[in-house]
Amino acid sequence: MTPNRTNTKILATLGPASRDKDVIRALFERGANVFRLNMSHGDHETIAKTHATIREIETELGRPIGILADLQGPKIRCGTFEAGTYILQPGDTFTFDDNPAPGNSERVQLPHPEILAALNVGSTVLVNDGKLRLEVRACSETSATCEVLVGGQISDRKGVNLPDVLLPLSALSDKDRLDLEFVCELGIDWLALSFVQKASDIAEAASLVKGRARIIAKIEKPLAVENFDAILATADGIMIARGDLGVELPVHQVPRVQRSLVARARAAGKPVVVATQMLESMIDAPVPTRAEVSDVATAIYDGADAVMLSAETAAGAFPREAVSVMSAVARETEADPKYAALMKEREPDLAEIDTSHAIAAAAREISDRARISAICCFTQSGTTAFLVAREKPSKPVLALTPSVQTARQLCLVWGLQSVVVPQATRFKEAGQFACAQCLTHGVARKGDEIVFTAGVPIEDAGTTNILRVWRV
Ligand code: PGA
Ligand code: MN
Repeated sequence: MTPNRTNTKILATLGPASRDKDVIRALFERGANVFRLNMSHGDHETIAKTHATIREIETELGRPIGILADLQGPKIRCGTFEAGTYILQPGDTFTFDDNPAPGNSERVQLPHPEILAALNVGSTVLVNDGKLRLEVRACSETSATCEVLVGGQISDRKGVNLPDVLLPLSALSDKDRLDLEFVCELGIDWLALSFVQKASDIAEAASLVKGRARIIAKIEKPLAVENFDAILATADGIMIARGDLGVELPVHQVPRVQRSLVARARAAGKPVVVATQMLESMIDAPVPTRAEVSDVATAIYDGADAVMLSAETAAGAFPREAVSVMSAVARETEADPKYAALMKEREPDLAEIDTSHAIAAAAREISDRARISAICCFTQSGTTAFLVAREKPSKPVLALTPSVQTARQLCLVWGLQSVVVPQATRFKEAGQFACAQCLTHGVARKGDEIVFTAGVPIEDAGTTNILRVWRV
């Protein structure tokens, strides 16, 4: 294992600043575990090329690398304007309507008829990343006349957020459906859905993904926060997408919501990513602000599985430095004795835990109390490894799997080092693989004891029913 691997995983977005092979390799070597392909930018050809480059590096280094594709989702934009940019002042009246004619200082098209129809008197309309705030004063099926509360610039195709309206939109636009099929065919490990509003949005995507990737719900709408329990039960993982979330919620609520969602996702054993503006100033500077470093550390102390870099690595001037800073903050924070104590704490289990959970908890307990060097889980689908990671053990955890895709998916999960091994046919053989891999990865020495968990029959997925201590 390279020394710069941390328990907290690093998700790095690729883009114009980081698509080249030498940059991607450097980001991986500096600690990135999963790469994000943002479907809001870049055509299919570019995405396919970047994807192929990651896979080449994976083959050359012989270590699994996760790929996450992030669908744009139903992002709402206004139409275009006669003179490009207009300034709206507080107190002005401004109307959104269905007229495709270019807009002016009094009106613009909102080219989503179903959304115009869903607006009510009193609804908030935010424009340009929330910089402008308007409130609907009068509306019909085809127009909404607003009072400008906070003024600013409005121009062609600016993003529009409607925080307090349940948007009568499918979670997947036509573009999303095409992108989904494209990336699933390329072969991705995680698929992130933007602007999720309810659990059925995930179910709809799952029916198209058909098991080809695990699904992450991006929490970036107040409604998703309200419906979080149902969304968490349906999704395979969670991303706290603080960019849009901080536009749609009063920004001072974001830290409280972040802490609550991280804790609940942890309790459910589903990976949770904290995203956006983590090291924002590093887009233009080789060093972060103190506040940014503190923000990354906070997410780590909360027990997030992964922290994410967006424009810092995709479009910034210092992508390598950004990953190095994250990795260094993770290393320093994880070395704090207080961190281990925090990782032991968890929301109480709501339901009675089953055998699999109990075995994972026992693996942690034994590895804490006895002279155990590492925990090894043998896993087909990843289930056993997710359960062990949920316990946040203080000893290294190796996840051994015959499935390349499982190994790549586990790259996003707290503390897991995933390794592809041949399919074991007997329990004893799986144990031998575990001992050998512990030596290879330097997590145990000859004669050390390791805790080993698996499900038997060893070739079946989805059960965890054995815990054994092996001597390496
Ligand atoms: P985005 O999602 O980068 O796709 O907008 C992240 C966020 O909103 O925080
Ligand atoms: Mn977003």
